[in-house]
Order: sequence, then C-alpha cells, then structure tokens
Amino acid sequence: MDLLPSSVIMQPTTLCNLDCSYCYLPDRRHVRRMLPAVAQAVAASIGPWTERMTVEMCWHGGEPLTAGRAYLGRLMDRFAGLDVVHGVQTNATLVDEAWADFLAERRINVGVSIDGPPEDNQQRADWAGQPTFARIVRGIRLLMGREMVVSVIAVVPDPTPERAQRLYTFVAELGATWLGVNIEELEGSNNRRTAPPESQVRDFWAALIEARQANPTVQLREIDRVLGYVHHALNNEHHDEVDSTSTQVDPYLPSRGTVRSL
Ligand code: SF4
Repeated sequence: MDLLPSSVIMQPTTLCNLDCSYCYLPDRRHVRRMLPAVAQAVAASIGPWTERMTVEMCWHGGEPLTAGRAYLGRLMDRFAGLDVVHGVQTNATLVDEAWADFLAERRINVGVSIDGPPEDNQQRADWAGQPTFARIVRGIRLLMGREMVVSVIAVVPDPTPERAQRLYTFVAELGATWLGVNIEELEGSNNRRTAPPESQVRDFWAALIEARQANPTVQLREIDRVLGYVHHALNNEHHDEVDSTSTQVDPYLPSRGTVRSL
C-alpha cells in the first residue's frame, strides 16, 4: 500500500506585510522568494502522484501575495499539465481588483486569515501597528464579488465560550462556509506567554459546536476531521488519512493536508 501526500505546502516568500503579535515566523520581515527552479523541481517530484489523484498545491508564506502576481504566476505555471489544484492562504489585505481577477481566472482556492470581528482581530496588525480588519474584509468582498468560495482560518489566542460565539456568528454573517481554528501556537518566535488551560480550550470548542448546531451554515474543519476519523473507524475503513497539520511550515495553514493510501 503506497502512502502519497494529497497536498503540498509551498512557501513562495518568507515576507509578510503584517506583524501579527502571535506570529511565530521569524523571517517575515525579509524577502526570500522561492526560485522558479525549486517550483520546477517540486513539479517533477509530484508528477507521478498526480497520475493517481489530484494534488492540492497550497501557496502559503509569509504572505504569498507579497511575491507579486507575475512572480506567483510564474511559480504556479511550473505545474502546468499536472492534475493539481492551486490554493492560497492569504491575509487578504493586498487583494485588490487585479488580485481578485488573477485568483478568479486561475480558479485558485482562497483561504483568508481573519480572527473574527474587529475587537477580536486586533492582534492581526500591520508593521505600523495599524488594524487590518477593514482591509481584510474589503479583500474578501472583492473575492466573493467574483463568486469565489472563501474559507476562513482564525487564530484564537484567548479561547473562551464568548469568543467562540462571536467567531462563529461573524464567519456565518460574512458568508464563508468553512472555518478552521488555530488556537494560538506558542512556538518559533512566539514564546511570549503560556498556553491557556485545557478546560478553557474545551469550553471554547463546546461553545463553537453549539453555535454550529444552532445555525449549521459553516463547516468546522476540526470537527469534520474528527467525525471523518470516527466514521472510518466505525466502518473499518482503511483510508489512513494522516493529519499533516502538526508541521511547522506555517502557522495558519488551511490544514486540509492529508496523506492517502492508494
Ligand atoms: S500570522 Fe500570517 S499574516 Fe500574520 S504576520 Fe504571520 S504570516 Fe503574516
């Protein structure tokens, strides 16, 4: 039985235009772009996989849009002819009409990082310490205006039931249909405080599930994943999906990566 990854995380640049207080990427102030030759080599590596399944290429960062449309397009073009689906995980603050057109025309899946309503998004600030909420929402609106499906990843530094309720309501009203939650990860360059107690995290998840039960319009990444495992176990299936989210490739990965047995 072969195990093959169904998604690959690509970091086109280390640079990010934001300076979220919880970010653990130490090089986000520096521009180190992936060389096209690297993308070419990755394409050659995954070629055999794509003969057996569609592979998701998740362009992450840093902020992948800081690489520029032309450069990012050049990297993506190295995968032409392969059965791949491209996705970007972006903070969306750079999404303007031109970026929205680029992403829509190339049918790129878009995950946007936003942590909830303005009061819960304050740690997602730019390098000048300015809030980013309005810029992110503007970017999301431009994407949705092109009928693109936008998923949301939220970082939650202080998990409480109240925050869970606000987050779910916000995402549902935004019109997103998929939410992934990353409780703040204390690692890398982010070692400024201790993790919240387990009971607090448990209460957060319970409230998030309750919010979904009351208004089941948004899929919850973590819950779907757990239910998927349970389903496979109860049915004695052997798809062997392996969580790849514990990688330290990027803090706010969509986390849909799996390894599949074929
Ligand atoms: S968390 Fe994401 S958007 Fe924020 S500084 Fe880090 S890489 Fe940039």
